[in-house]
Amino acid sequence: MNKQCTVALAGNPNSGKTTLFNLLTGSHQHIGNWPGVTVEKKSGRLKNNPDIIIQDLPGTYSLSAYSPEEVITRNFLINDKPEQIINVLDATNIERNLYFSLQLMETGLPIILALNMLDLLVKQRQYRIDTKKLSYLLNVPVVSISALKKKNINPLTRQVIANTDQPKTYPHPVYDKRLESALSMIEEQIANIIEADQLRWYAIKLFERDEAVGHLKLTAQQQTEIDNIIDTAEKLFNDDSDSIVVNARYDYIERIINMCVVRTSDFSMSMSDRVDMVVTNRILALPIFIFVMWIVYFLSIQTIGTIGSDWVNDVLFGDFIPNSANAILTYLHVSVWLKSLIIDGIINGIGSVLGFLPQIMMLFLCLSILEDCGYMARIAFVMDRIFHRFNLSGKSFIPMLISTGCGVPGIMSTRTIESKSDRRMTIMLTTFMPCSAKLTVIALVSGTFFPENSWVAPTSYFISILTVVGSGIFLKKTKLFSEPPTPFVMELPAYHLPSIGNVSHSVWIKAHAFIKKAGTIIFASCVAIWFLSNFNFQFQMVEQNDSILRDIGMVIAPIFAPLGFGDWHATVAVIAGLIAKENCVSTLNITFGSSSTASFMSTLRQTYSPMAGYSFLVFNLLCAPCFAAIGAMYKEFGDALWTWRAVIYQTVVAYMCALSIFQVSEIIQGNVSVYFVTLSFIAIGLMLYGIFIKRERPQQLELY
Ligand code: GDP
Repeated sequence: MNKQCTVALAGNPNSGKTTLFNLLTGSHQHIGNWPGVTVEKKSGRLKNNPDIIIQDLPGTYSLSAYSPEEVITRNFLINDKPEQIINVLDATNIERNLYFSLQLMETGLPIILALNMLDLLVKQRQYRIDTKKLSYLLNVPVVSISALKKKNINPLTRQVIANTDQPKTYPHPVYDKRLESALSMIEEQIANIIEADQLRWYAIKLFERDEAVGHLKLTAQQQTEIDNIIDTAEKLFNDDSDSIVVNARYDYIERIINMCVVRTSDFSMSMSDRVDMVVTNRILALPIFIFVMWIVYFLSIQTIGTIGSDWVNDVLFGDFIPNSANAILTYLHVSVWLKSLIIDGIINGIGSVLGFLPQIMMLFLCLSILEDCGYMARIAFVMDRIFHRFNLSGKSFIPMLISTGCGVPGIMSTRTIESKSDRRMTIMLTTFMPCSAKLTVIALVSGTFFPENSWVAPTSYFISILTVVGSGIFLKKTKLFSEPPTPFVMELPAYHLPSIGNVSHSVWIKAHAFIKKAGTIIFASCVAIWFLSNFNFQFQMVEQNDSILRDIGMVIAPIFAPLGFGDWHATVAVIAGLIAKENCVSTLNITFGSSSTASFMSTLRQTYSPMAGYSFLVFNLLCAPCFAAIGAMYKEFGDALWTWRAVIYQTVVAYMCALSIFQVSEIIQGNVSVYFVTLSFIAIGLMLYGIFIKRERPQQLELY
């Protein structure tokens, strides 16, 4: 073989695709994004044969066109027609994985099944899969592998190379006779416009009335014939056409499983099930989750991460970089203002943000481990139970988990939610979660005002979740969101030992994005903030207290007085946070003209009370997100009115929460201001009213 060919790697999420991709391609990888979406696009050359390009496709459960992942996978297979597919299956979840395999086989492309997680299957000893029989029945090559333990990778590679040398398509699965005759009649109708190898795929999609094949140019007569065929089949089966196909696939899988899967012990419980009995237990699940999150924040913000951050703050940006820059600039006889811009503005500003990098990396290390080992899937499951009780969809929790990294992909991932009203609500609520940028504010406030209290940082996580739940309960009672939630079905993957490769890759991607942002948006913001805080309206260099920024800040500052931080420094920090939340920290640093982290923290402690600091944290945690996330919201809502509704709602909620928390703390300390306390009581009253007022609950959808 001497011509290049492409092999697509497809499978369900968590089936081990990434692990196998890394094994097959080694370091010859290219990572980018699929056009128009933030879904990662990875390709690489096969280690043993560089003529074979492995194209990793996003993990999906089906080839319908609901989510961006499904659209990408399906378009690639149908339009780009790779030479063959390696379908990675999690052998411990064979039934669900085979459902996807059947859809891949329907595309008419040559396929190899890589039955992964062989080691787990052997260890669990629940069933054994007769791969020879499976291969015979499906008429496709099947190779059992363990990507994690690097077992049987060579036979798989040999099979891939053999297939490329002698490309060959495989017969597709044959379903119920009545369905088959309907499909063959549709195939006859479209035979003149579709190539032979894709006839089956298009016939099924037309039968399912899938909108994504609407581009086919059918004549009126062809369309009528096809409609008649579908109507007849629906009457015959007494079911919708798409359900007929789903049932046919599951019947087929059942037959295959009956013949190829040998159950060794139907009643024994796996280790995973035993752990789940505790971890997803109705009473213990939440306390365990709270404890786990406490450990995560304790490690990242209180202990290990802080050691790194202290070094970056005190040694790198507190001593080495500013002193070296100072020496160089003095040597070059640079003017005073430029020296101040570089040292006080740029180095100090960016340094105050980059100082949090070790803490953020530690946090993502912990979160990736939890995700990779399967714990986060359990949390989505537990949250679903709680969300459903309040008539919310558990599907909303997945975008929220993603938003703990960054709100933008979190908002985009709401596309997997079918119900429009649930989707809109999730877009509106998902940025309440603390993203990595907000983590800088969390770490600053907890480290400055509450260094001894390890519970302060994790409370921000819990406040976010409570706000999501509270808002969900309230919004569901309004006319805008009164649709019942859609059912959410999820399967829990068995627990895995996290893989070092996956975890470090995920931490690196996030750290890289954080550093890139510091070098671009934060850099530009620091320059702008420095100018505005060092010049007056006549463009003369002045003290910060006579600057443009101060004048602007002073006009808006009274709005934040009831929240405990009604001065111009914090006010402009909140506004700069709209550009990027890290700006809250760098702006405070620049406007206070701090020379080191220690002096910055001590100025903050002298200026604000601890609870004012906490109120600042809560406000920035919950208020309108940064412009990038607002842009993503606009794109997903598709209209400006909804975007405005969301931004105003978030900001009002943030204001009411910060106000209530600060004023209650003031009452406890005996500092009562009648106006502010009245305002806070109104806010608390409104929030309680919104949550507890009774409205007729929308009808639950039937689960079947
Ligand atoms: P993807 O979502 O399909 O890309 O799956 P990943 O490659 O990220 O794998 C999901 C999890 O399964 C990770 O924790 C892997 O370490 C683990 N994993 C992958 N292959 C195997 C395997 O063969 N055996 C076991 N026990 N775990 C595996």
